[in-house]
Order: sequence, then C-alpha cells, then structure tokens
Amino acid sequence: MINVTKTYLPSMEKYKKYLEKIYTNGQITNNGILVQELEAKLKEYLKVKNIILVANGTMALEIAYKALGVNNFAVTTPFSFVATTSSMVFSQINPVFADINPSTLNIDHKTIGNKIIKGTSAIVPVHIFGNACEIENIEKIAKKNNLKLIFDGSHCFGIKYKNKNILSYGDITTISFHATKIFHTIEGGAIVTNNSKLDKKIREMVNFGLNEYYEIKNIGINAKMNEFEAAMGLCMLEEIDNIIKKRSEIWYRYEKELKNFVVFQKRNPNSTNNYSYFPIILQNEQQLLKTIKTLNKEKIYPRRYFYPSLDTLNYIKYKQYCPVSREISKKILCLPLYSELKADRQQKIISIIQDITNQKTGKP
Ligand SMILES: *Cc1c(COP(=O)(O)O)cnc(C)c1O
Repeated sequence: MINVTKTYLPSMEKYKKYLEKIYTNGQITNNGILVQELEAKLKEYLKVKNIILVANGTMALEIAYKALGVNNFAVTTPFSFVATTSSMVFSQINPVFADINPSTLNIDHKTIGNKIIKGTSAIVPVHIFGNACEIENIEKIAKKNNLKLIFDGSHCFGIKYKNKNILSYGDITTISFHATKIFHTIEGGAIVTNNSKLDKKIREMVNFGLNEYYEIKNIGINAKMNEFEAAMGLCMLEEIDNIIKKRSEIWYRYEKELKNFVVFQKRNPNSTNNYSYFPIILQNEQQLLKTIKTLNKEKIYPRRYFYPSLDTLNYIKYKQYCPVSREISKKILCLPLYSELKADRQQKIISIIQDITNQKTGKP
C-alpha cells in the first residue's frame, strides 16, 4: 500500500541511545535536557533567533494568537490544512478569507486589503506546500493597517527565502513537526520569533504561565514537548539533509515526467524547496476522481490536499466566498512522495497520470 507520505523512522538503535539517556536521567518532560538540546540544535541548523518547541503545530498557532493579542477578526487563506482556520475559531477569532492566487496557491496579497474590516487584528498567511508567500507585500499591508503578522510555516522545514530562513519572517512564524511532515518529532511544533521579549512571554505561556521560579505570573496553557519527542527530533535532524536529498530526486522525476500533462504550483523564485509535497492540478474534479480511482486499484493512495476549501466549512460565521480556492481544491492532488518510494511504483503513478490526462479530454 502506498500512501501520500510514509513517516520516516530513524533506526531503532539510534533512537535507543537517546532512550537510554532519558532513562539514566529520569526526566521525561518539563523542558528536559533533550528538549533543550533539540532547541539549541534547531536554532543553529535553521539560523533563527528564538525558537520555542511545543506539543504540536496547532498549539503553536493558538499560542501565537494569544501572545500577540489577536482577537475578533483575522484575514487568512481558505486553501490550507484545516488547523490554520480551526485554531482561530477555537480561539474565538473569526477567520476572514481572502482568496488565493491560482498559480502560487498562496493568499493573493491583492485580495487582502478588501478583507480588512473594523476589528481586524492580524493576517495569517500560509506558505502552502513550502512555497513562500509574497512576503514583502504582505508585510507592507500589515504595517500600514497596524496588524499582527503570523505565518503558518508548517510545511517549511529548512526553506530559505532570500537567503534567510523563512521562519524568521513576520511577528511569529509557526511550524509543525507532526509525523506526516518532512521533519518530525512524532507530534510537535515550534514557534519562531525575532522578538526576545515575546520569546520570554511565550516560554511562560507554554508552561501554564509559570515563570522561571515557578511563580504563577500570567495565564498560560500546557503545550510542552516531551523528551521522547525531542529524542525523535534529534535522530531526525542527523538524517534530514539526506532525506531531503532523496525526496528531491523523486520530486524532479515527477516534474520531468508530468510537466506536459498536468499543471504544477508556481514556486516563488526567491524560495528554496524542501520537496515535501508534489501537488498536481488536474483539469477538473471528474478527472481527479478518475485518477484517484485508477491509482487506488494499484493500492496507491494519493491525498486530496487541500479539500474542501475552508471557506465552505459550516462553522465559519463570517462567510466569504472564495471561488479560486474552491475551484483549485476540487482538482488538486498530492502525489505520494517519501524517501523510500520505489522507482517502479513511482513509474506506475506517472504512467497512470500520463494516460488519464492524455485521453480525449486533451492536455490542460
Ligand atoms: C500540519 C499542519 C498544521 C497543524 O500541525 P499539527 O502539528 O498537526 O498540529 C497547521 N497548519 C498546516 C498548514 C499544516 O499542514
């Protein structure tokens, strides 16, 4: 069975070395030595100023909203994983959707201005599939309207934008280290900020609002990463360059073989790629469903990332109609992509897509 992704597991031997450390030390959570080690190593690897490890990418977003005082309304993209939006609604913030650019699949900066209303407190774009948004344009809009800027960088491990790590933009950028992401800690995530005061505030917020002397200072929550998760992250970090390299080979094979058959996401020329996802845009939903059905017969299971468009969710109070996102959601598919994907299986996937897209309906 071939799924859209397969969680990379480092060798058990490697993981065991860290487990032994945990058992010797006896501390399994509460900012233990492995969490501290992973934090320090990620800070250096990613070259970011402040990074706070947390329990998952959704909590990272919720804490970012709280720490920056985001409330009432926030402008965001309808084309993302549901957590970008659900984390807002869960935090009593109303998402206001601004439609996406049909080529880059990111929030279209030209649509943001119209969505800023009385009570808007933030813009929350997503660098979708690790493709950088129009960062400077969005920064300008945020500054002009006095809005907080939080990037959901969940797909962006290792990505650089104009030679700087992409996580270092905005007031905060969050990232997910979930098992399905390219760099994972089983469950996990992080909050990145250049503002050291904010960093201190967030560190307390993640730990019930306790300060370094365990005094109750402010309201907080429990969003701590534990030692077993950090151990996984330390193992992954040793191998991540290799994983990305292997995935890039698969990514480029897809690109070469499918470029005359389907439409690809247009990538930002100032942004590097971590080869996390290979989305293809088909002609219409019918063709997409046919592709899925044919692949399923071969026990190949691509995923409809991201479907449905989030502006269609029933729990959205402030309704916005985003036709571009709705249209793209209906015909976009992410192909299986992971370092251990076998060449013959990838060829099968390629052949099926070439066949279907080349039939009477014609090329896109
Ligand atoms: C995965 C993901 C999240 C949520 O991360 P979790 O670690 O699973 O909570 C948020 N936003 C986007 C865009 C994601 O892909």
